[in-house]
Amino acid sequence: MQVLVINCGSSSVKYKVLDTTGGEARLGGTIERVGDERSHDDAIAAILEEAADLPIEVVGHRVVHGGEAFHDAQRIDDAVEAAIEACVPLAPLHNPANLAGIRAARRLLPDVPHVAVFDTALHARMPRRAKTYALDAEVAGKYGLRRYGFHGTSHAYVADLAAEHLGRDLRDLRIVSLHLGNGASACALELGSSVETSMGMTPLEGLVMGTRSGDLDPGVVLLLARELGVEATDELLNRRSGLAGLSGVGNDLRDIQREAEEGNDRARLAITVFAHRCRKYIGAYAAVMGGVDAIVLTGGIGENSAEMRRRILQRLDFLGVRLDEDANVAAKVSDARPVADISEAHARVRTLVVATNEELRIARQAAKVARGDQDVKQPRPIPIAISARHAHLDRKAMDVLFGEGSELTVYRPLSQPGQFASEQRVNLVGPRGRIEGVRVLGPLRRACQVEVSRTDEFRLGVDAPIRRSGQVKGSAPITLEGPKGTLHLDEGLICAWRHIHMTTADAEAYGVQDGDMVEVTVSGGPRDLTFGDVLVRVKDSYALEMHIDTDEANAAELSPGAAGELIYSEPGSKATATLQRKR
Ligand code: AMP
Repeated sequence: MQVLVINCGSSSVKYKVLDTTGGEARLGGTIERVGDERSHDDAIAAILEEAADLPIEVVGHRVVHGGEAFHDAQRIDDAVEAAIEACVPLAPLHNPANLAGIRAARRLLPDVPHVAVFDTALHARMPRRAKTYALDAEVAGKYGLRRYGFHGTSHAYVADLAAEHLGRDLRDLRIVSLHLGNGASACALELGSSVETSMGMTPLEGLVMGTRSGDLDPGVVLLLARELGVEATDELLNRRSGLAGLSGVGNDLRDIQREAEEGNDRARLAITVFAHRCRKYIGAYAAVMGGVDAIVLTGGIGENSAEMRRRILQRLDFLGVRLDEDANVAAKVSDARPVADISEAHARVRTLVVATNEELRIARQAAKVARGDQDVKQPRPIPIAISARHAHLDRKAMDVLFGEGSELTVYRPLSQPGQFASEQRVNLVGPRGRIEGVRVLGPLRRACQVEVSRTDEFRLGVDAPIRRSGQVKGSAPITLEGPKGTLHLDEGLICAWRHIHMTTADAEAYGVQDGDMVEVTVSGGPRDLTFGDVLVRVKDSYALEMHIDTDEANAAELSPGAAGELIYSEPGSKATATLQRKR
């Protein structure tokens, strides 16, 4: 696919036309002085004129801030445009420019899909403990004060390449990714998800950057605001700090290194503060993930400065990081050869230099969304229903337990159309114990099936297999007692396989099929949990709902009304493969 990638800043528009298959750039450039000398419309029109001979199929727009709303790349319509606009207060410098570019491009290319790719999206599912600032919760909620994180496109791109290079599944790896350019951030990617990142509500937090300070005692900000005023403090922290502020010789590390070699002490200090901060974050993120398998360095500094890499990576032997000095000095990465391993052959942690290519990632994400096969669309929570122990009966069992020709009477309808909890109850009797008053669900079925939790099994003294509904052959025996008689079943007792009911339209929206195994994450409570091996069951008569038993609900501290988020496994990924074997 030919994708035009637009990165619209407040004063410039960067653009590139990329072929997503081979990754080659067909054309590209930067239009400067947008805003004063020419409008965004003029800039986009000029780009389209230059690209007139190229069959542009999709436009991918880089959008800095997706706020709470966007977890993934989105096809742009008026509602998405409005939601991006709603994030302007969170990124007052970036989002208005991104929007101006989107509006101009949609006007000038109305027949092509436009896709927004967000810098924040990778981090949208960070755990609460990582997203939350220790502030008064009400104030934080009112102003949206939390860590969003940025550089997601780059971290995701280099992590993918690192996993591919190592011949490992991203979901098996704990990666610390350092994007060290003029902007700089660290990201902890655990099993493919961002679980921590150094930039926060704005791109000012974290590592030392070209002109941005990164981490500070908030007391420093208060003092500066009092002494200099808010605007001057903003200017100081964003534009006159970081490497530039420390060194006094500008924000380009090459100049600073030259000065340092000539004995400039401020330049030397700038380099050591930069490296120290990076090393500190590597250690912190290894602690956050309980270890690290790979460290990835990218961005102008990460890709090009062997000297800075050496400084950052020293004294990390205790983690299993062992730098091969020669490989480090020799490492040269490019779009054609994007990965260089700079670790010693037997180092437990692989240290990789990876050439980032944010435009290519944006182009590929945009193409995926346009084709309709992106991994995840809008996060659509899946309602979770907690199934207490229950029994399904056949005609014969009904006759024995409740009397010849008796019928189930509706106690309460269930969410799945036609299903109901009946007024009838039975007792379960096992070799060790009994459970009284177990609800019978209707209507009657072709075979009896009794579904209990593991805890119930201990009480009864039985060992039931985990089965999908209907697969009772060879399952555990159980005795049922009803008001009119007792029935021993040689098989029929199961522990239900957790599953999601959904319609064909739901399945399409989630990109799954009947029989797929997926993962569902529940978060936001005190016992966040990801359920693996969740079976997808598709039928047009189903209502969207995940069913788990009481043990599973308790493990995640769920109560009625809970919802989870479906996590996708890339086709062919290890998760999918092992789960498919279990089917
Ligand atoms: P980026 O924002 O990723 O383009 O990174 C730009 C920054 O990378 C520059 O400001 C330099 O500080 C740094 N950089 C690029 N090339 C080198 C190099 N060969 N050695 C040291 N730093 C470099």
